[in-house]
This record gives sequence, structure tokens and C-alpha cells, in this order.
Amino acid sequence: MKFTREDIIRMVEEEDVEFIRLQFTDIFGTMKNIAITASQLEKALDNKCMFDGSSIEGFVRVEESDMYLHPDLDTFTIFPWRPQQGKVARLICDVYRPDGTPFEGDSRYILKKVIKEAADMGCQFDVGPECEFFLYHLDDNGQPTTITHEKAGYFDLGPVDLGENARRDMVMTLEDVGIGVEASHHEVAPAQHEIDLKYGDALAMADNLMTFKQAVKTIAKRHGLHASFMPKPKQNINGSGMHINMSLSRDGVNIFANPENEKELSKEARYFMGGLLKYMKGMAAITNPLINSYKRLIPGYEAPVYIAWSTQNRTPLIRIPMTKGEGQRIELRSPDPSSNPYLVLAVCLAAGLDGIRNQIEPPESVDSNLYELSEQEKKDIGLERLPENLNEAVRELEKSEFICNVLGDHIVKNYCKAKKAEWEEYTNQVTQWELDQYLYRI
Ligand code: GLU
Ligand code: MG
Ligand code: MG
Repeated sequence: MKFTREDIIRMVEEEDVEFIRLQFTDIFGTMKNIAITASQLEKALDNKCMFDGSSIEGFVRVEESDMYLHPDLDTFTIFPWRPQQGKVARLICDVYRPDGTPFEGDSRYILKKVIKEAADMGCQFDVGPECEFFLYHLDDNGQPTTITHEKAGYFDLGPVDLGENARRDMVMTLEDVGIGVEASHHEVAPAQHEIDLKYGDALAMADNLMTFKQAVKTIAKRHGLHASFMPKPKQNINGSGMHINMSLSRDGVNIFANPENEKELSKEARYFMGGLLKYMKGMAAITNPLINSYKRLIPGYEAPVYIAWSTQNRTPLIRIPMTKGEGQRIELRSPDPSSNPYLVLAVCLAAGLDGIRNQIEPPESVDSNLYELSEQEKKDIGLERLPENLNEAVRELEKSEFICNVLGDHIVKNYCKAKKAEWEEYTNQVTQWELDQYLYRI
């Protein structure tokens, strides 16, 4: 939607909006917001609302803490899940320093910068994410559990489970806030669901993904359930991914389609993929940001493990779906829904554009089931693995000059510092597994 300042003032008045949330996202992908009353609207629209950046992890030190919020008018939305008298609306904001320069720790700014690069090449980045999540029961104290009574599996039809109703409500709510849903279905594991968002431009999609998570959690709660985007909540069953379908368009025409040969990808699509594959290891800490993310990226659960692409099956990192012509796209399967969507889309686009600029040819496609290849076979085709854990991923990120440049010093420094601390805290644990294995035997 395109809104002017006057549109917003009018809508707030006409719709009886009482509170406005000024939202932004921290570098780890957590949504933050400052609520103002409607009486402060003009001040907010004048970019005069301020917050203390030092209270946000990974933002700034106390000495330089004043930050300004510049609302993006086009993101004005009234929340349908809040009271309908004295309504609550939101505006997604860009974060600026007091001197009027954009704050380099604002991940929305990082994405906008890469989108601008694409625009300079005459391209728009279009994406369609597929978000998977679990719906679990709450305990007697209202705390989330990993318990479910559901038995349904892939594409199963209701009324077998409670989650079905919740998902229906989620889809309707998303449509209400202007987020188009392409499809939704039950996923492979019990209590696992998927909602696929309609293809759209990358900035709106990153904004939508933040709203999506908020809406899904809110509606789940209304149904007495907890929605979790944790990548691998349970051992031995599928985890949750956030596959991203991507393509570039020029003047509204998808340039990943090959007008000469429908069966083949265009050379832009091939180079874009070449870039993604080249920079993948350095991107992993962004696409898969948690310790738990790497427990999903193991053989046997439809999640990628090796850096390869295929038109045939779902075990490689990149899959080329069958759709041809305008629908031609590539599907990156590594990202998970715990990631910061602004940063994920920024690194993907930057890697892809670099592929196009430098005409990076992807390796041959690998069409066999990668989980079943022997060590020798993997060696013969030069198959490389994604980082095996967060520690390795952070080191790969620090090593990748290209990805560090995309993210900028501020984000790299703060992100890596926090992720290293997370890793250290985790590895210092003495776990039940160790006690079970060693206490008696050793
Ligand atoms: N849940 C799987 C994953 O972890 C993907 C299943 C699918 O192909 O949709 O990525
Ligand atoms: Mg799926
Ligand atoms: Mg998929």
C-alpha cells in the first residue's frame, strides 16, 4: 500500500486508533516496539520519536544511545487481533542517528542498501518464503511445552487436529493485515504446519515475515496453543525450515526464465545460484542463527546438509521447482524461521548479484539423494558441507570478506560477539546425555 502523511492522520482519526506501535527489528531478528498514543502521531510522522539504543542488545553503547525512528508510511496497518475500540496500529520504522544518518546496525537499512544495488542493475528481487512451525500445548501455568495430541501428517485433512482450526484463523488474519497467503498445509511431523506467503518484493516480504510471526503466535495463543519457530524442537522428527523461493525481475518480467529454452534456467539464474553457492558457508550464521539451527541441518529430515543444487530432489541446498516461465525460481532450503529476515534477504541478494556481476558458474547439479552418498562419492564430486555448528558458522562468517562487507562492521562485530557467547555458554554445559554416557562407565 502507498500512503501519504495525510492518509495516515485521516485513518487514525476515522478508525478510532488509540495506540500506534513504532516497530523495528534488532540485529538478532527480534521485533521491538515503542507504543505512542494517537496524540503523538504528528511527532512520529515528523521523525521525532526517539528511543534509548543502548537498551537494545547489539545496538549501541550508552555514550551514543539516542536513536530516532523514521516511520515507513507504507507499512501502516491496524492490528485486527487487538481491541476494535481504541484500536492499535503499527508503523515499521527505519532507525537513524541524531545527526540524520541511517544507523548501520539497523538490519532493514542493510537490506535496503542491497535492494538499491539491485535497482542500479535494473532488477527487483522477488521472494516467496515457506514458513514452517509447530503448534504445541501449554502447561497448567500457561508455559509452552513440546506436547501435542495431534496425529496428522503431510497434507492431511482435518478435523483430526486442533491446529487445523488455528491455522485457518491465522491465514484469515494474515489476509486481514494485507499479507497474501499462497497456500497452507499440515507438514510432515505431528503438530507441524506450513504457511507459504505470496510472492512479493523483498523489503515488503521481510516486513511481512516479522508481522507473520507476531500474528501466528497471537492467534495460536487464542486457540490455547503455542506457536514455535524453533528450528528443531524434537530429535528424530523433521525440524522447521523457512525455504525461500527467489527470482529477479526486470520491468516486471522474470529474468530467471529462459525465453529460448523453457527447460533451462536463464544465465542470470545460473549465475545467481553460483553466487549463493559460493558464499553459502559465510551466510550460514545469518540464515541459521541458533545453536539449535544446526540440529536441523542433518541427514534424513528433508533439510539440506551439503552445498549442492538439483532439479530433482529435496536433499540439496538449492532446488529448482518444476514451475517454468513467469514462475521460474530457485528455492534456497537452508534458512530457518529463527533468522532475521532482513539480513537473510540482504545476504542472499548480495551473493546472487555478485554471481551475476562476476558470471559465477554453479557446479554441476547433483540429482541423487545426497543423504545416501558414500564418503568417496562425495569426495569425487567435491561435495562440501554446510557448517556443522554455530561456532563453525561464525568463523566462516568472519572469514568471508564479502559477507562481512554486506553486513557492515557494526553488525558483524556485535553479531559475532553475541553468537560466540551463546556458543560458549552452550558448550560449557554438562548435559544429561554426558551423565548418562559417562558417569557410570568411566
Ligand atoms: N521441514 C523440512 C526442513 O527442515 C522441509 C520439508 C519440505 O520439503 O517442505 O527444511
Ligand atoms: Mg515444507
Ligand atoms: Mg519448500
